[in-house]
Amino acid sequence: MDHFLYRNGALHAEDVAIAEIAAEVGTPFYCYSTATLERHYRLFEEALAGLDCLICYAVKANSNLAVLRTLARLGSGADVVSEGEFRRALAAGIPGERVIFSGVGKTRRELEFALQNNVRQVNVESEPELDLLNEVALALGVVAPFSMRVNPDVDAKTHEKISTGKAENKFGIAYEDAPRLFRKAAQMKGIRVVGVDMHIGSQLTDLEPYEQAYTLMRDLIERLEADGIPIPRIDLGGGLGVPYTRDNQPPPLPFDYGAMVRRVFAGMEDREFEIEPGRLIAANAGILVSEVVYVKENAGRRFLILDAAMNDLVRPALYDAWHDIDPVNEAPANAPTQPYDVVGPICESGDTFAKQRVMPNVSQGDLVVFRSAGAYGAVMASEYNTRPPAPEVIVSKDRFAIARPRLTYDDILGKDRIPDWLEDAEDASASTHTA
Ligand SMILES: *Cc1c(COP(=O)(O)O)cnc(C)c1O
Repeated sequence: MDHFLYRNGALHAEDVAIAEIAAEVGTPFYCYSTATLERHYRLFEEALAGLDCLICYAVKANSNLAVLRTLARLGSGADVVSEGEFRRALAAGIPGERVIFSGVGKTRRELEFALQNNVRQVNVESEPELDLLNEVALALGVVAPFSMRVNPDVDAKTHEKISTGKAENKFGIAYEDAPRLFRKAAQMKGIRVVGVDMHIGSQLTDLEPYEQAYTLMRDLIERLEADGIPIPRIDLGGGLGVPYTRDNQPPPLPFDYGAMVRRVFAGMEDREFEIEPGRLIAANAGILVSEVVYVKENAGRRFLILDAAMNDLVRPALYDAWHDIDPVNEAPANAPTQPYDVVGPICESGDTFAKQRVMPNVSQGDLVVFRSAGAYGAVMASEYNTRPPAPEVIVSKDRFAIARPRLTYDDILGKDRIPDWLEDAEDASASTHTA
């Protein structure tokens, strides 16, 4: 459920008309709903109520400081995959004690930053990373809180580009190697073993792969503890899928997920649990609003050319993702529909949001929205084609604020530097001698 609903035929974000925001900030723009973010956070709280569970929002889904601060206010922790994201979490008011550091390629400098900022735990993904973490901790005179991301080799049954828990994926430590590396870690002076972690993929629409993975995790914890290595924390990862369209079977609810977690970990309720949801919190809390630049007919196909492009929202180009597309002015119930190819202006055929999408008639100048664009949308934006990425707006009840302004062309051009040998182009031919 979200808070982007029609009122008297006009799409609103909570109590603010989308057309009103468009008139003020221009298009395209992202729009986030505070109420939806809060609702989704609470769904996890309720689903896991009774367990000692810290929700560590996966910052990479949407790292805007306004979004992070909204969640920080509710008590959220953070799951970060870079120093930059760690800095965002801190800037939003999430202390290091609530930050989990994940990722396969953490550098020495990133590990130092994490330890200097009291990271809650480092989810280590390889033996060389374990060695480096120990070394960095000893050099800093601290003991690093260590959790191991274990790759359970289960099929998450999601898109191959967002599947992370198969042996062939680059993520985590092989299940068979885990006991040996836990024993090694337990001996290291710079390491304190705090937990075990699994994150098997994103946009999971089935609970079964989770159940398989968590059962393996439970078995591993029992073996480790029998070996004298206590595992006080269980990190469940993220990945729960969201409904990207009204027409399909909805993915499992957090409530059902919570029930499964309790079942699998029955008898282990004395542990601390952690969960790292990203998409489920942010996706349906955001839309991308765009204006129709042209409607063009070519060889019998009708193209809807928008002012948003793959540089704003790359998911369709990257993962063939589906986003529902709706007009901001609601079409009457029996309005005629027709198929459109919905595209952006970028010089790539991949800059296509949808092919032969059946929609009510729309015309030049109309506003349309992509739903479920709050996660892996703005964070993946680029300036490709020297297009300023869509700015971000956040709504709370009847208020809205710009959470990230649109870059100006001066902002964009001002980032480049012309080397000194290209300055003074007029007398370039006279000064080509090198030392
Ligand atoms: C991306 C990621 C998440 C969040 O995944 P969602 O599908 O957005 O819930 C959680 N944990 C780790 C380690 C991740 O890389």
